[in-house]
Amino acid sequence: MFDKILIANRGEIAVRIIRACKELGIRTLAVYSKADADSLHVQLADEAICIGDAPSQESYLKIDRIISAAEVGDVEAIHPGYGFLSENAHFAEVCENCNIKFIGPASSSIRSMGDKVAARETMRKAGVPIVPGSDGHVGDEQDALKIARRIGYPVIVKAAGGGGGRGMRVAHNDPSLVKGYHTARSEAERAFSNSNVYIEKYIESPRHIEFQILADRKGRTIHLGERDCSLQRRHQKLVEESPSPALTSDLRKKMGKAAIKAAQAVDYINAGTIEFLLDASGTFFFIEMNTRIQVEHPVTEEVTGIDIVKEQIRIAAGEELGYDQKDIQFQKHAIECRINAEDPFNNFQPSPGRIEFLHVPGGHGVRVDTHVYAGYVIPPYYDSMIAKLICYGRDRRVALDRMARALDEFIIRGIKTTIPLHKLILKDPNFRRGRYSTSFVERLLEASQPLVP
Ligand code: ADP
Repeated sequence: MFDKILIANRGEIAVRIIRACKELGIRTLAVYSKADADSLHVQLADEAICIGDAPSQESYLKIDRIISAAEVGDVEAIHPGYGFLSENAHFAEVCENCNIKFIGPASSSIRSMGDKVAARETMRKAGVPIVPGSDGHVGDEQDALKIARRIGYPVIVKAAGGGGGRGMRVAHNDPSLVKGYHTARSEAERAFSNSNVYIEKYIESPRHIEFQILADRKGRTIHLGERDCSLQRRHQKLVEESPSPALTSDLRKKMGKAAIKAAQAVDYINAGTIEFLLDASGTFFFIEMNTRIQVEHPVTEEVTGIDIVKEQIRIAAGEELGYDQKDIQFQKHAIECRINAEDPFNNFQPSPGRIEFLHVPGGHGVRVDTHVYAGYVIPPYYDSMIAKLICYGRDRRVALDRMARALDEFIIRGIKTTIPLHKLILKDPNFRRGRYSTSFVERLLEASQPLVP
C-alpha cells in the first residue's frame, strides 16, 4: 500500500479522498490555488502546497506544477478526483512516465473512452447497444443533414470531447439542426478545445441509468448496481438514487452484463461508470463511460456498503478485489441531492460569497459530504456544488421521507442554494411514485414559475 498520496483536486471530493486515505493509514498532500488557502481540504491534509493563482488553468489544471508538487512531496500516487485532470489521458501518461501511480485506469483506457465517437465505435464492435447516430465525426452541415434524415428527427448534436452537459444541441428540423450544429461546435471548441461533434437520435424523455464498475488487475470486473440520474437540469445531474425505480431485476441483470462487457472492451482497471439511456419501451443504449470517480458515488456506497474511493486506491496499489459479483448485496435505498450555490429563483445564477450560518442535518441514515463551514467564503472560480446530501434507509419510501426531513434541517445563510428546488422535487407525487425522466425537472420548473420561496 502507498505511504503518501497527492490529491489533485479541491472541494468536497478532495475531503472525501483525504478521509479514505486516513482510514487506510496513508499520508496526504493537498494542492491548492491562492483562492483556496482557507479550504477544508488544505486544513485536513497532512501537508499542502500552493500551486498557483485562482483560475483552474493557473492551478488545478497545471500538470507541471502538480507533478513538481508530487516530486517535492515525495508521493507515490496521485488521486485526480473528478473534473479537472481526472479524464486527461496525457496527465495519466505523465504520471506513468514519472513513476507516480495515477489512481484511475491506464491512460489508454481514458483515451479510448475520452473521444465519445471512438467510444461508440468500440462499444458497437463489442456488441453493446449504442444510440442510433453518425458513424464518426460529422464532416459538415450537409453531412449533418444527411445523417438526421437517415435516422429521423429529433436528433441531438453532441461534442466528441464532451462532458458536463456542454456542447449539446437538440434539433427537430433542418434549420434547427444547421444552427445547432454550429453552436455545438463553437461551444465544444471553447470548452474542450475540440470542435468535433457527432449526432445521435434524440431519445424523448428517457431515463439516465448508469452502472458503477470495479475492475482489478487480475481481470476481475464486477458492477455495484445502478444509479438513476434522470433528474437533471440542462443535462446536468441534480438528484441520483439507487436502485432505480424503473428497473426490473431482469433488466438490471441485462444492463449490468452490458456494462461489464463495455468496461472489458477497453481493458478497464479501477472504478468507472457506464452510462446508458433507457427509453419508455425498456430498450437501453450506451452513451458514455466516465473513467473516474463520480460525484454520485456515495449513493452506491450506501446501498452496497463498499467504500469506492478506498477500492480505487487499493486497486491502484495492485491489490485484488476481495469479492465477486455474487458477493455484492444490494440492501438499502439511497438518494443524493446536489446542493449548489445557485439561485433557483433567478435562473440558477451562481451565488458565491460568505456562508454566514450553517446547520448541517444529521441523524440516522443521513450523510453529508461537503467542504464548507460557517464563515467559509465560496470562491467564484469553480464548480458551484457545495455539498452532497445523501439519505438512505431500508426502502425508497424511508429514504425519501428522510431526505425531505434532512432538507428541512439543512440551513445555509448568506448565499442562495438549490435546497428549495430539492424540497419541491421531494414533494412531487410523480417523483414519489418513481415516475420521472430526464425532462422532469424542466417541466417542474415551468409549472412552478416563478418558483415561490
Ligand atoms: P456529458 O458527458 O456532457 O454529461 P452525456 O452523453 O453523458 O453528456 O449526456 C448527458 C445527458 O444528456 C444525458 O443524461 C441525457 O439527459 C442527455 N442526452 C444525451 N444524449 C442523449 C440522447 N441521444 N437522447 C436524449 N437525451 C440525451
